Amino acid sequence: MTNRQLIDKLNQNRCLEVAEWEQLIRTYEKEDFDYAIQMAQAIAISRFGKKIYFRGIVEFTNICKCDCYYCGLRKSNTECMRYRLTPEDILECCREGYESGFRTFVLQGGEDGWFNDERMCQIVRDIKAQYPDCAVTLSLGERSYESYKALKEAGADRYLLRHETSDPVHYRQLHPEKQLLETRLQCLRDLKELGYQTGCGIMIGTPGQTPEVIARDMKFMEEFKPEMIGVGPFLPHKDTPFGNEAKGSVEMTLFVLALCRIMSPNVLLPSTTALGTAEAEGRKQGVLAGCNVIMPNLSPMSVRKKYMLYDEKAGTDISAAEGIAILREQMDEIGYEVVVGRGDFQKE
Ligand code: SAM
Ligand code: SF4
Repeated sequence: MTNRQLIDKLNQNRCLEVAEWEQLIRTYEKEDFDYAIQMAQAIAISRFGKKIYFRGIVEFTNICKCDCYYCGLRKSNTECMRYRLTPEDILECCREGYESGFRTFVLQGGEDGWFNDERMCQIVRDIKAQYPDCAVTLSLGERSYESYKALKEAGADRYLLRHETSDPVHYRQLHPEKQLLETRLQCLRDLKELGYQTGCGIMIGTPGQTPEVIARDMKFMEEFKPEMIGVGPFLPHKDTPFGNEAKGSVEMTLFVLALCRIMSPNVLLPSTTALGTAEAEGRKQGVLAGCNVIMPNLSPMSVRKKYMLYDEKAGTDISAAEGIAILREQMDEIGYEVVVGRGDFQKE
């Protein structure tokens, strides 16, 4: 089959064989790219209109016990100036976000033991009590089933946990021995079982990633059926083992995002900060490739430069209000409108 036929097949069946995914990723050409982008864009518009959901992200701790080779927050990075927001600080970020029209707050951080279940549940309960019309998304890494259950009962609605890769060999190229792919996948299954709107996802261009690896990850996502998918380019951080590696391709990221939209027409698909960092127009291009979510940063100015997953992260030297204004303007430039609302996943 030609690549174009494969894209049509994906559109029709919402699934492909691993070998077919691999062919697409390995051999696509400019015309296939354009075809996929146009199709993904049309699907997103048919489901959501030219509307983009904004989620306010609060990067509440950069302390992490993990040592992922790609991430600037890894515990072995002694150059990283560590911080932890207080529950009051987090609530204050939400207050500002609410005033700017946000109805989803994303609490994201390293795996920081200070935020145990008791503290984390209290934070979630406080946010839900003050803003009952808002959704809370958590992105705190791997926790036990009981922990995820307690957080769900406290009111958390969604959870983002990129699986990073479902290929065991590639997983090992990205993580030390102690971090297990099986644990990560079990966490994703637990989250789904507990009724979270669950997000998984990958970086594009991590060292050692091949078209076959991406193909396996597409198959994994096709089968897992997440409500959210996070895909962004890998970007190096100078103080990590991958500091001298090349950054991931923006074009490949856009192609994969478009394929995700075609595979899962209703999925919540953010145009990521990493995409906006890799290229000034990246977030706009993401939207034009089928993304329907943008996650502006609500973290206090004082900590932004410390949440450096990769070098030159976009938006670390402007305030939350400025960042939001720029993103609104960018959306306006391509004829899209930012909507106020929780923007929950809709089943077919
Ligand atoms: N600690 C939690 C976790 O790992 O799931 C949440 C925070 S972590 C910083 C969020 C995501 O950032 C990771 O899932 C990873 O895909 C992404 N990330 C980390 N380092 C990156 C890099 N150098 N380039 C692009 N994305 C990166
Ligand atoms: Fe920690 Fe997440 Fe960074 Fe890994 S990606 S080091 S778990 S913050």
